[in-house]
Amino acid sequence: MTDKPFQTLGILGGGQLGRMSAVAASRLGIKCVVYTDGEDHPASHVAAKTYVGAYDDAEKLKAFAQDVDVVTYEFENIPLETLEILSKLKPIYPDHKLLEVAQNRIAEKTYLNAISIPTTRWMKIETAADLKKCFSEWDCENLIIKTTRFGYDGKGQAKIKKSDDLDKAITQFGDQELIAEEIVDFECEISVIVARDKDGHVETYGPVENEHKNHILSVSKCPTHIPSPIKVRAAVLTEKLASELNLRGVLTLEFFVTKDGQLLANEIAPRTHNSGHWTIDACTVSQFENHVRTVCGLPVGMPIQHSNARMINLIGDDVEDVAGYLSQPKTCVHLYGKAETRAGRKMGHVTILA
Ligand code: AMP
Repeated sequence: MTDKPFQTLGILGGGQLGRMSAVAASRLGIKCVVYTDGEDHPASHVAAKTYVGAYDDAEKLKAFAQDVDVVTYEFENIPLETLEILSKLKPIYPDHKLLEVAQNRIAEKTYLNAISIPTTRWMKIETAADLKKCFSEWDCENLIIKTTRFGYDGKGQAKIKKSDDLDKAITQFGDQELIAEEIVDFECEISVIVARDKDGHVETYGPVENEHKNHILSVSKCPTHIPSPIKVRAAVLTEKLASELNLRGVLTLEFFVTKDGQLLANEIAPRTHNSGHWTIDACTVSQFENHVRTVCGLPVGMPIQHSNARMINLIGDDVEDVAGYLSQPKTCVHLYGKAETRAGRKMGHVTILA
């Protein structure tokens, strides 16, 4: 590493992922400046400075860029135009290629399949006839329709039956672009988080085993009970994705593990991930520290896992359980400082070490 590492990190987005990256940055003596579209966001509470503005406010974005050495992001739906404005002024990591791939499910699955990372069967759909074709080619009774953009935590997707009104199934999403996916009868869901630095050195976390409640991540466990060859293959595929994309930063690849031991990639998160929150308390270098390190030009750190970990999300009213967790040994409580508790809102998490 000959270049001087960046000292001021600009973070697009004000959520808890940005907050935890900023906390990790502070330990490395790196200052964070947040750009977000609202007041009192979780990342702002721990940042040196916050710009509040729209993501298309060119003047404000330019002022933000002047204040930082390098830019990263903490959510994937950053308009590409925002990155276009900023990229003329400061380096952005991970670069736009990863966002282009991860922002659209068709681009994502096309890219994964092109580099031989298997997914469930999928098809772009526009009409009821397209859906009929999926049912007949895949010889199935049910499938999932998803919007290609802006889907998260089960939003923008619906399970449909062959006997449903297929026109209605399509029009329920307005004029949004859609894909259909074959339903995977999975044994479990896992994710691997990978960090890659500017010299191409790579470290991975996981695989992590993930349980969802109402389509929202509820519990993550590491290590998982799945057989070692599947663990190794998941890590290899995730590293492959990172190197194909020439990643500088952190990304997460989510997989289904099928009942017959196949791995099918479901989704790329172009960033740190909820399923990696346990790394703060159970590893020598967390996903957030490696995000900051790799983006700022420091070497990726080797994340030795010193404890088994089980992370539980505090969603909505779950946050009321916090008093009980605070008095438990080996239980690390993280609250995101969100003023208002709402159903489905991630308010914090706890990591229980063993
Ligand atoms: P996604 O937004 O694609 O991450 O989907 C959210 C959750 O819905 C996943 O974590 C799975 O639990 C479930 N899911 C999504 N796609 C499929 C699929 N093709 N087959 C089975 N379950 C799925």
